[in-house]
Amino acid sequence: MKKTSCPQCGLSAAEFGESGQLGCAACYRAFEETLVPLFKQIHGNEFHRGKVPVSDPSRQKMRRELIDLRRALKKAVGREAYEQAANLRDRINELERGTDRQQVAHG
Ligand SMILES: [Zn+2]
Repeated sequence: MKKTSCPQCGLSAAEFGESGQLGCAACYRAFEETLVPLFKQIHGNEFHRGKVPVSDPSRQKMRRELIDLRRALKKAVGREAYEQAANLRDRINELERGTDRQQVAHG
């Protein structure tokens, strides 16, 4: 291993290797050669590729809520609780509109 130490805080590559922690912002540059293979080991790749598939948690939550609401609506209708059913229906409509994210002009 190349003998490297940070010119700013004096942290050596060996010390960094032990603690795994950088002493200051300049350490990154000083240990770049040391760090890159280390990060490769940790992440199994060179840094982040930024192509992680993202599932929208808020949308999933909304879908779950819709399912629950539809179930509740069915029950409410079955109990002839029409006022409650109407409220549920409104809420469902609201959520359904929200998932589409369409601009609805009022009036
Ligand atoms: Zn440093």
